[in-house]
Amino acid sequence: MRSITILGATGSIGTSTLDLIRQDRDRWKVKALTANGSAVELAKLAREFGAEMAVVADPARLPDLQDALAGSGIAAAGGPEPLCEAAGLGADVTVAAIVGFAGLAPVMAAVEQGKTIALANKEALVSAGDILMSAVERSGATLLPTDSEHNAIFQCLEGNDLSNVRWITLTASGGPFRTWSHEQLAIATREQALKHPNWDMGAKITVDSATMLNKGLELIEAWHLFPVGLDALRIVVHPQSVIHSMVEYRDGSTLAQLGPSDMRVPIASCLAWPARMDTSCKPLDLPAIGELSFFAPDEERFPATRLAREAAETGGSAPIVLNAANEVAVAAFLRGEIGFTQISEIVARTLDKALPKAPTCLRGVYDADSQASRTAMTMLEHA
Ligand code: NAD
Ligand code: MG
Repeated sequence: MRSITILGATGSIGTSTLDLIRQDRDRWKVKALTANGSAVELAKLAREFGAEMAVVADPARLPDLQDALAGSGIAAAGGPEPLCEAAGLGADVTVAAIVGFAGLAPVMAAVEQGKTIALANKEALVSAGDILMSAVERSGATLLPTDSEHNAIFQCLEGNDLSNVRWITLTASGGPFRTWSHEQLAIATREQALKHPNWDMGAKITVDSATMLNKGLELIEAWHLFPVGLDALRIVVHPQSVIHSMVEYRDGSTLAQLGPSDMRVPIASCLAWPARMDTSCKPLDLPAIGELSFFAPDEERFPATRLAREAAETGGSAPIVLNAANEVAVAAFLRGEIGFTQISEIVARTLDKALPKAPTCLRGVYDADSQASRTAMTMLEHA
């Protein structure tokens, strides 16, 4: 029996994780489940899984959570500090599935426990990559990548030495607008952006997939997780999302990981690692899929991957600015305040401003994030 905490339990990754646990209840003891504001939904999950603790990040939702958990014996808490306490309960596995920079503090709290972290929250790694990776080393934590591409790469690297790697290739579906013209992109709506062809995910990452910034964030994520150098990292558009990523070795062998477009596969790989577990995911039916195709990314129509690569090359606070400006711009797009192509424009223009001081500690990461968010918000006013 292993204990587990799920940060962001009500989201897309969180519910997929709970779905796997539901099929194997005797193996898992749920310590803490967290959410941002959906108190009733969280309480329902906490009761179903017999969690020790449930936490809403938004303290205003604590009364609702307390009401919904009345008589259950499950501890209820609200606010950023209890969120970090939940992350730091020392569960054998902590699934980091909060969306955005908001997940950084709890991820750090989990890392400090020196246990296993299944990391989906890529924005934390993009913003605080060096600091987070040093904390992992210092605490002896095991960081398992849950993002499907990074999980694929992790599997393709097993038993191999990084010094033998020639290329790591991240695959990208290309999102719903892969074949759209500049003119069409300029008038793309929120509803169109939220219709991903292959994956069912939270709103923010779905928009990131449409702009391709998701792949840019993933490039930076890979750069931290697999230190082969930026020049050895490539992106290829593969609309079928069957190959989740690949590693080419110096002898010319390429190893790829394939699977259905179902996040329960990489999550299961993290939950059972280094063993394997059953899932009820639909098996891959290659004859039904028929053909796999590959294209070079078009950075004219989708400049976001170029912006991310440049931010990684610049280093210092640039990746924090890239992420922060994107979070501000995507939220504005989802509120209907800016057009689709303005998302990448705001990211580019925020990166063009004087960059905040390069952070040397977590405080510095927070300062740079706040500064970049403020800059991006002033751009919204003129957008
Ligand atoms: P989601 O929006 O479906 O869920 C996010 C979860 O985080 C929810 O439980 C929500 O309540 C919680 N949350 C949101 N804002 C919060 C805040 N400010 N403080 C605390 N909790 C907060 O998102 P998702 O699609 O599950 O994605 C989660 C993370 O996993 C993201 O970083 C995403 O990039 C990454 N990821 C997701 C997928 C996917 O298929 N969904 C695939 C790969 C990587
Ligand atoms: Mg991914």
